[in-house]
Amino acid sequence: MRGITFTPLKIALGIGLIAGLMQLAEPIDHIFWNTWFRVPQHSADGETIVVTLPAPGSNKANADSTLVPDEAEILDRIRALKPARVFLDLPETGVVPGVPGGALRGAIAEFGDTLTFIAHPEKQRDDSVETRVLIPEPGALGAASIAISAWQQNFFGYAINSPYLQRVGDKVFPTVGAVLANAYEGNGPKYFPDFALDPQSIPVIEGARLVSSNPPSAKLAGKMVIVANLAASSQEPIGWFGRGRVAPVFMDVAGSAQLKNSVPINIGWMPILLTFAALVVLGRRQSRRRLRLVAYGLAVALVVAGPPILEMFGIFSTLGPAFLAMASYGVARLWQKWRIEAKHLSGSGLPNFVALADGGIDEGADVIVGTISRYEEFLATLPRALHAECARQIAHRLSLGSGSTVIYHGGAGHFAWIEEAKALETQLSHLEGMRALFTAPLDIGGHTLDTNIHFGLDRNADQDATTRINSALASAVDAQAHVRLVEEFAPERLAEATWELSLNARIDEGLREGEIWLAYQAQWDHRLSIVRGAEALIRWNHPTRGAIPPDAFILQAERAGRIDTITYWVLDEAIGAALRFSEVVPGFRMSVNLSAQMVDKPGLVDTVAEIVRKRGIDSRKIVFEVTETWGMRNRPAAQENLSRLRALGFGLSIDDFGTGEASLAYLAEMPSDELKIDKRFVAQITGSERNRLIVQSTIALGHALGQQVVAEGVEDAATFAMLAAMGCDVSQGYFIGYPVNSTQFIEELVGKRLQLGLTLNAC
Ligand code: C2E
Ligand code: MG
Ligand code: MG
Repeated sequence: MRGITFTPLKIALGIGLIAGLMQLAEPIDHIFWNTWFRVPQHSADGETIVVTLPAPGSNKANADSTLVPDEAEILDRIRALKPARVFLDLPETGVVPGVPGGALRGAIAEFGDTLTFIAHPEKQRDDSVETRVLIPEPGALGAASIAISAWQQNFFGYAINSPYLQRVGDKVFPTVGAVLANAYEGNGPKYFPDFALDPQSIPVIEGARLVSSNPPSAKLAGKMVIVANLAASSQEPIGWFGRGRVAPVFMDVAGSAQLKNSVPINIGWMPILLTFAALVVLGRRQSRRRLRLVAYGLAVALVVAGPPILEMFGIFSTLGPAFLAMASYGVARLWQKWRIEAKHLSGSGLPNFVALADGGIDEGADVIVGTISRYEEFLATLPRALHAECARQIAHRLSLGSGSTVIYHGGAGHFAWIEEAKALETQLSHLEGMRALFTAPLDIGGHTLDTNIHFGLDRNADQDATTRINSALASAVDAQAHVRLVEEFAPERLAEATWELSLNARIDEGLREGEIWLAYQAQWDHRLSIVRGAEALIRWNHPTRGAIPPDAFILQAERAGRIDTITYWVLDEAIGAALRFSEVVPGFRMSVNLSAQMVDKPGLVDTVAEIVRKRGIDSRKIVFEVTETWGMRNRPAAQENLSRLRALGFGLSIDDFGTGEASLAYLAEMPSDELKIDKRFVAQITGSERNRLIVQSTIALGHALGQQVVAEGVEDAATFAMLAAMGCDVSQGYFIGYPVNSTQFIEELVGKRLQLGLTLNAC
């Protein structure tokens, strides 16, 4: 199972969802509304008129008792103008029972039930406020009804919404906006003010002027009139998004305006967030940059302009969580980009494969790796200062041919890029064309270099980026090995690739669980006629894959940089067995295979010496077999290590002698004590004169160089006897014994001498 990877989109969506569910993004919505409603979109309908009362004490020198009759006078005047309903918001002093003011009471009573008294809860932020609303005592207002101005506010005192009905103690009162619009229920228990309304357009008349000698021609007939003293504490300003602060009566008008239009449907935050995510996904899937930009642009426009546009259609939505998601997505992408840039190859300055994987690969793209033949050889012929230039020139050609702006350099001669997915035929002829670009030699600082390119193609769009790059790389290497222009990565190979990629963890598990163990194959000493040694051969019985041949996983472990762990484990284990075997055969020698990849490692000799010291074995009883088929990267270091091992008393054996590319050179250069003739020659000596001569002369050559000669792959008695006759020192093969575990080995050791001795005599 693949672990969860945190892509920028997943992070953004997660943050958006959390913010939405926990209502953490509300401040963002409020800030947004505050900006958006700066430009009012429409005027008031003029059906509600605000008549202001003079501030207490402002119009009369003697403020004590004369205020109230003024209000009564104004009310009388308003009544004469025949409004449909009057809402009266008086300073507390005017209505609290017991306060003098008979004239005001009288004026109020005259209205009968066309007057509504506006009461204010003391605390308005909480839904279930234990309100201390100044409700007049019964009868104080005649037949007048009561409505409440109950705006819920955010932290900054901005009105957000109002209930249709507000409970106070055991009574329920309608709110002013609801009464003004004659709407007492909607899609939920609350309604919003119409912030798009211009508060300046709500008609306001000064009450004092209505009773002056020259009254304005106020058309109050049939209108809703709110009479309020704006200086009273009940009218302490409340925030209106985009418009600063206004007296609550104006907010009541905005509330009624919203209700009169049509009650908006509130779709909340989820639809905007999800649509945003869908647009980003759509964008990521576009291989064309322009289409991608269109999708991203739409995603941003949706978040920023979606809610106000929807509002025009009577749909109310919240953008906060989507906005947070958008911001997090941006930050995560920038971070990703920064990381990609931070991972540029320092030498060539081109981004590397890690950068490509980190950047993610869109589904609509093919991944291509181009492998330049003999790249390392080139570098060897170029001055160091031109190495980066060489990579850049290759990348430039690839960029011209592929049309990709970014070419990634994976080290060695591997270059990768992504292209819009095409039909296979089209892609192949396109790559054919690209190869033509490499028929012209490269000219790097006056050095002319001929080269060739092979391509690996991955079209498994459902795989993650790392897998796709590895697949394309593996295919490019195959293409080069098989001298084909291009190799496509077959999806069936993915299971294998996954296995290879997770090999590190599996090797550790195999060692821990005892799935990996050592088999020992006997080595017969012809001169002494005894089994005098064995070769330790690694075995892996995997629970699901069965027996894995060492050739297969040793090679992978070498590639994965895991060979050290295995080698030291093998050495330690083999020494343990050697100590046990020497109790049966004194002077027993154990041969251990040393991967050529390890021979030049700086810490090799010290680690080996330490293991041997801890185990307390004589180093002369250990022989290291090194194959010559695998090129060592640092030959002087390898030579140095081998000489040091030899100086410490270890035996050195050249394994599979005769199969390498430079057998004789190797023999001349590398310090050794033993030659192991490869089984492909040994197996043929009884049937092919040529092979017999090769083996014969190799034995002679070995002896002339002071080497002990071992024949491997001895499968039958005739071969065994012939080798003995040729003077071969040691034989190893199925005829002497199959590789077996240590217990079996000890059991067989005892009987072997007699049995083989007899065979030899019979031949
Ligand atoms: P090698 O070192 O040349 O080992 C000899 C191989 O020949 C072994 O294969 C052995 O099982 C096989 N063999 C032995 N007798 C006969 C015979 O009579 N006829 C035939 N046809 N084959 C015979 P195996 O065990 O599959 O190992 C393959 C290779 O894997 C080894 O070749 C060695 O290069 C590598 N290897 C095995 N164990 C280790 C290890 O612990 N470390 C490293 N680095 N490489 C190892
Ligand atoms: Mg070997
Ligand atoms: Mg061998």
